[in-house]
Amino acid sequence: MFHSSGHNHRMDVFNPRRQKEKVVIVMGATGTGKSRLSIDLATCFPAEIINSDKMQVYEGLDIVTNKITKEEQRGVPHHLLGILDPNEDFTARDFCDLTSLAIESVLGRDRLPIIVGGSNSYIEALVDDHDYKFRSKYECCFLWVDVSVPVMHSFVSGRVDHMVQNGMVDEAREFFDPNADYMKGIRRAIGVPEFDKYFRYGPLLDEETRARLLQQAVDKIKDNTCKLACRQLEKIHGLRNNKGWNLHPLDATEVFRKRGKDADEAWEKLVSGPGAMIVGQFLYNMTAEVPPHIGSLRVPAALAAATH
Ligand code: ATP
Repeated sequence: MFHSSGHNHRMDVFNPRRQKEKVVIVMGATGTGKSRLSIDLATCFPAEIINSDKMQVYEGLDIVTNKITKEEQRGVPHHLLGILDPNEDFTARDFCDLTSLAIESVLGRDRLPIIVGGSNSYIEALVDDHDYKFRSKYECCFLWVDVSVPVMHSFVSGRVDHMVQNGMVDEAREFFDPNADYMKGIRRAIGVPEFDKYFRYGPLLDEETRARLLQQAVDKIKDNTCKLACRQLEKIHGLRNNKGWNLHPLDATEVFRKRGKDADEAWEKLVSGPGAMIVGQFLYNMTAEVPPHIGSLRVPAALAAATH
């Protein structure tokens, strides 16, 4: 539960006289659980989510780009997710323009904007670009879901196998166009160019060679995803260490070492519980005790604690 530490018991996010609006930004490498955390936060605080993954912004290839499903969204409104024609370009400037609009519309509904995704250079452009004056308009709270590199790599590799089982190959086949440009639009996504040889030559080859090409494509996707995760992590370290971004790390490594109920408990204890505490303090300027269960932090309870 939250306890107010100041005299002003109103929540800043709902105060029309506030000077700076508040925005939460959830960062982390691919596969670390950013989306899960953002949904958990949105069940604690009235919030809407703004996607900052430059591939998930496109319509289509939901499995390949690992988009959050409707079921996983649990009714929380999502912005900039699956909205763009797959052939369009989507630059950092486009991201900044659309995100600025989305933030204002979320704030207009008295809700907290939570920006979530792995495109760190786009987040950097949004937050640090002088044209957008982001930092003078908004107060930011950065959460960083961190997972140790070896654990992350083995998870990412398993996730690709899972995606294949869930229909990734057929989904990518539908997008295959022998004349397509892999430098444009959604076809830049990991999981598209890697299948080129398999789709192009597979139908002409014997079964064994075809199976080998498929395995090579899957291995390449695993390799490229691990490299992406490392680049994302390097970028996050750079933002923290060189640019002085005040990131709050949440170490999820233990969650990935466990299974089932134990993993869920570790998630609450190490990631969603502390994450909700940090956001609660950021929004309401409150001291907090770690809740026994994140479920006890539903909006009405938080609202009641904040306003009485
Ligand atoms: P950079 O400016 O280096 O591209 P960034 O932080 O803006 O970095 P990332 O989101 O890390 O961009 O994406 C880099 C590349 O990784 C993309 O161009 C794409 O090939 C791949 N990628 C990123 N997100 C996904 C995704 N959800 N699905 C598939 N591939 C992705």
